[in-house]
Amino acid sequence: MNLSEEQRAMRDVVREFAVEEIRPVARESDENQTFPEDVWDGLADLDMTSLTVPEAYGGLDVDRLTYSVVNEEVAYGMLSVATALSVHSLATSCIAEFGDDDQKERWLPDMAEGRPVGAFALSEPQAGSNPAEMTTEARREGDEYVINGKKQWITNGERSGVVVLFAKTDREDPRSVTQFVVPKDADGLAVGKKEDKLGLRASDTTSLVFDDVRIPAENRLTEEGKGLSAAFHILTGGRIGIASQSVGLAQSALDEAVAYATEREQFDRPIADIQTIRHKLADMKTQLEAARLLTRDAARREDAGENVELAASMAKYFASEAAVDVTNEAVQIHGGYGYTTDFDVERLYRDSKITTIYEGTSEIQKKVIARNLLD
Ligand SMILES: Cc1cc2nc3c(=O)[nH]c(=O)nc-3n(C[C@H](O)[C@H](O)[C@H](O)COP(=O)(O)OP(=O)(O)OC[C@H]3O[C@@H](n4cnc5c(N)ncnc54)[C@H](O)[C@@H]3O)c2cc1C
Repeated sequence: MNLSEEQRAMRDVVREFAVEEIRPVARESDENQTFPEDVWDGLADLDMTSLTVPEAYGGLDVDRLTYSVVNEEVAYGMLSVATALSVHSLATSCIAEFGDDDQKERWLPDMAEGRPVGAFALSEPQAGSNPAEMTTEARREGDEYVINGKKQWITNGERSGVVVLFAKTDREDPRSVTQFVVPKDADGLAVGKKEDKLGLRASDTTSLVFDDVRIPAENRLTEEGKGLSAAFHILTGGRIGIASQSVGLAQSALDEAVAYATEREQFDRPIADIQTIRHKLADMKTQLEAARLLTRDAARREDAGENVELAASMAKYFASEAAVDVTNEAVQIHGGYGYTTDFDVERLYRDSKITTIYEGTSEIQKKVIARNLLD
């Protein structure tokens, strides 16, 4: 699918950054479970932290296809960095789309420059696939809201400076979910346990605990009760981002597999000459390109103003499952070496699994696809 000259230029810049700045630190960041902050600052220097910030507030405000291409390339470098960037972009999207002028002025110019980093706090310990079951409450008291509850699995949990929060104004009323912007240094807001994960280990995933956190009423982003529809709206675009990251991750695994198959010899010839291996690579390539096409199709449709609920879910479902398949086969092609941390495919395989889980599991994507087909 053709990209414009501008999109190709952006892709090339980010690909170069991914290869020269992200990949070299990926293994160590994964091993130490630390987020590479220098890489983040480098992305900010390239204006990549301003992708979903309007130009009036210092942002690039890119179209969805460009957003997709950037996500793909950052994930080619390392999924943990791409995840952090896409969550930051979700937060800036929420403020840009739902905030008033004062809220935008307060947060967006600095976030466009990379800091404060944004977090997006929807999930809870007992409310993941169905966020309407959340119990975090923001009770109105005069000119303030008082927030109590716990958010779970928050990307950029520790490193963020601002949180886009979803909470109920009435805990008993599932229709009362409302969106707020909460400064991270608010009294009573504590960062909880850092998760020890299978993959995405350089990404900072924590809980956030709100204990009588008081925020001014003007920090409300949506009218009371309009938070859930806002979250679903933002997450539809977000799913195209995760699909794009899955494509970038799979591309990285395919490139590793091709290089290894060409170098590694068994039975006096490169394993790339063995038909079984050739067929594996052919399947990987086909799955990857199909995933890329679905993803870019969804992005293009969004840019054309279409409702992309179906297209985004199909792209996210197919591309994330493809990433798991492709990375799995990349490990297989590496044989025993692929099972060790000496080769990147091991990390790519572990990282891939999260793409089928966050921003709506594959089961939830299929639910959305079937609903569009049948109801
Ligand atoms: C590393 C990581 C980072 C994350 N980052 C963020 C973040 O920044 N912000 C945020 O808000 N959240 C974040 N999440 C949360 C993520 O979006 C949820 O984990 C996800 O939505 C699934 O929710 P759950 O874990 O509660 O699983 P559950 O909802 O309990 O699901 C368990 C299983 O049941 C299935 N299931 C549930 N309901 C249905 C149904 N109706 N039909 C069919 N199957 C169903 C699911 O598909 C899954 O297989 C993150 C999660 C992880 C692991």
